[in-house]
Amino acid sequence: MTPFAWALLGFVLGAALGAAVVWMVIQRAARKVRGQIVNRHHLGEILAPLRAAVVVVSEADFVLAASAFARKLGMARGSSLYPAEVSDLLADARKSKRTMECDLRLVGASGEPMQLAVRAVPLSNGAAVIVGEDRSEDLRFSETRRDFVANISHELKTPIGAIGLLAEAADSAAGDPEAVHLFLGKLTKETRRLNELVSQIIALSRLQAVDPLLDAHEVEVTQVMEAAVARCAEIAEAGSISISVQAEPDLIVIGDAEELETAVTNLVQNAVAYSEPGARVAVTSGLADDGRVEIRVSDNGIGISTEDQKRIFERFFRVNADRSRASGGTGLGLSIVKHVAVAHGGEVTVWSRVGRGSTFTLRLPQSIEGGSE
Ligand code: ADP
Repeated sequence: MTPFAWALLGFVLGAALGAAVVWMVIQRAARKVRGQIVNRHHLGEILAPLRAAVVVVSEADFVLAASAFARKLGMARGSSLYPAEVSDLLADARKSKRTMECDLRLVGASGEPMQLAVRAVPLSNGAAVIVGEDRSEDLRFSETRRDFVANISHELKTPIGAIGLLAEAADSAAGDPEAVHLFLGKLTKETRRLNELVSQIIALSRLQAVDPLLDAHEVEVTQVMEAAVARCAEIAEAGSISISVQAEPDLIVIGDAEELETAVTNLVQNAVAYSEPGARVAVTSGLADDGRVEIRVSDNGIGISTEDQKRIFERFFRVNADRSRASGGTGLGLSIVKHVAVAHGGEVTVWSRVGRGSTFTLRLPQSIEGGSE
């Protein structure tokens, strides 16, 4: 052979060897990738961090891998699938060879009711995937709405019923001016209550519909405090309660002045309503260590037990319904305060001791431009 032929043969053999090596490397890599996909351990690692409850089962319904959430809910225990509803759903899906869905109610890790939307998906190799998405938040939302509607109906029916009865009573006492006067006085009181309730319900729905930060302005905290105290002057005077204001100057927050005023007014109204005649209410402001603006409303009134403190921000929750109604309360005041605080990027907290008094603190982010730093 000529040197050229030797060179050509060498080149061809070298190229063939090189191609074979590349092919082997690719095959090895592909095998590795395939191995990773089917490897149970790796599958478990992929599923573990998922927020949904995901379980992969073999052809014989043995659990191959499950997300941590699925294990927490007890849908995968060892290699068994639970509860029976899920196994039945999977059997239906396998039989019909298509994805099947159902809603499942379970008890969460800390005993809370949970609602899952579950799908069973048969795979072409005989295995199957079960996916459960947490719908508990939707469930809680619709329950809260249902309770709210039921509570509103109840709260509205009471004054409306009373107004009807009082009007009839006034009519039948037509010959007795003193009785008529008495009934009309009560009628006015119930009408005021109804008016207050309707206004609060409207305020709450308006708050829910509009984000105050979408059309926000700089709001002077001192003005909010003074306006709120002015709104409560009449009821404070009627209860012989003095209100003092101590405001740190130049504190500015971003938001809706009207909403903030309503929130502080509700706190001051409560401080007055749940104090004995002659008591003192203090409204103060300042900067917290974390740079947020604090508006504090303190009273030395009846106070709230630790147990009740957990519920007072719920709509229509009252510690003592009679005392609340007697002072014109609707049970919505603090839920409005909480809503305003959260919508402004802040929070409201309470400190209280029964018989010693309460301090409600509204914390709001400070406006950087207007801040006193
Ligand atoms: P209400 O219209 O009944 O005052 P709120 O939502 O404003 O409704 O308050 C819920 C409940 O929290 C009240 O019924 C009352 O029992 C309690 N509460 C609120 N503020 C105070 C306070 N400053 N001192 C004692 N109890 C309070």
